[in-house]
Amino acid sequence: EDQEAVFLARTGESRRIRRDCADVLPGGVASNWQDAPPGAVWISHGAGSRLVDVDGTSYVDLHGGFGVGLVGHAHPAIVDAVAARVRKGTHFAQPTEDAVVVARALARRFGLPMWRFGNSGTEATMDAVHLMRVATGRTKIIKVEGSYHGHHDSVQVSVYPSAEDAGPSYRPRSVRQGMAVPSDLARLTVVVPFGDLEAVERVLIENPGEIAGMIVEPIMMNIGLIPPPDGYLGALKALLHRYGAYLAFDEVKTGLAVSPGGAGELLGVTPDLICLAKALGGGLPCGAIGGTRELMGLIAEGVYEQVGTFNGNPLTMAAARATLLDVLDDAAYRHFDRLRAVMSEGATGILRAHGLPGYVQSFGAKGAVIFHDRPLRDYRDFLDYPDQWGQAHWLYQHNGGVFLPPWGKCEQWTVSVQHGDDDVRRFLVNLERMARDYA
Ligand code: PLP
Repeated sequence: EDQEAVFLARTGESRRIRRDCADVLPGGVASNWQDAPPGAVWISHGAGSRLVDVDGTSYVDLHGGFGVGLVGHAHPAIVDAVAARVRKGTHFAQPTEDAVVVARALARRFGLPMWRFGNSGTEATMDAVHLMRVATGRTKIIKVEGSYHGHHDSVQVSVYPSAEDAGPSYRPRSVRQGMAVPSDLARLTVVVPFGDLEAVERVLIENPGEIAGMIVEPIMMNIGLIPPPDGYLGALKALLHRYGAYLAFDEVKTGLAVSPGGAGELLGVTPDLICLAKALGGGLPCGAIGGTRELMGLIAEGVYEQVGTFNGNPLTMAAARATLLDVLDDAAYRHFDRLRAVMSEGATGILRAHGLPGYVQSFGAKGAVIFHDRPLRDYRDFLDYPDQWGQAHWLYQHNGGVFLPPWGKCEQWTVSVQHGDDDVRRFLVNLERMARDYA
């Protein structure tokens, strides 16, 4: 059975809307990555663990809106909190008390004392880069090859460079991600392979007094899912500090998903700065930056102006408060772990039974089947990992009623507190169907 033909036959209304709106929405979508192959699927609504598209098909949602959906759809606690806030006004550009409650909850979970808010992961990682520059008076930062930290210039470097552009693996080139990024700016972002301490030290030595800090995903997402080598994060922090530079964790994806206090808590390392977004707003656009008193003091003193019209917006703060205090409690994390075990053990068993290449990597609410014959360690491994398996898997899941994030081999599943055993069993049934067809 041609899975792409099945998909196209099911999604006629999505394709009709996309065709008809391309005169007003560039590319027929609201944001580029919503247009993933084999075509954008337009959504009518979501409820609990489910999404319903405009053709009326219902899916188990493991896309989670690119990893936002730890609370699921229309969770009563979020609906109530947002509805109560809407009736009292939604924007003043003056602080509301929920911001204090959210900041205290984040300080408890993440072990960093002070927090500020924004509206996206991009703003959070931009604040992190800015703070490291302001604190050191230095201009360059270090970034991992293959990591995505949002769409501001400093981090739009070597996100998905081609093999031809990327340079030698031990000394990756700083490749700007498209012509929007000036080459002069791309040079200020020095790129290293994930998990390689020697490469970081070499950069620190070769750029004396110039490196403000390093931004890193403690567990890499967006190129499959790659845990750090043992001891890497702690050693990285010590190394950077030795050279007067700072360490920022981008926990936009891992933050509330892999444990209550993120990958830092899970792996026992507290950085100087933590970037959050995605799940924090319970489905509303919210970002946050947390840091040490020393770094966040620069904001208090006005040395760094952390600003934004919608920062700490009352509606998103109400949603974040409910997310942290009412939904993502200890029971939620036990639930994530239980579903994770069912999914990863089930999927591993299916791969083995049918002799399919691959393995499962998972933490908390997130995981991925990686259809590769050896474990991914960094971006160069990811370049060697063929596309077609991830894409085929996406289609089998979609046609079988499970909505995974698009871009096959890049992304991870996300489960919510509203997902149950039937939902994850459906995922396994679809994987088994694919494995049988390919065996
Ligand atoms: N950091 C990571 C690790 C991400 O995965 C993303 C988005 O996918 C971002 C930052 C940027 O977040 P946003 O899209 O909210 O700007």
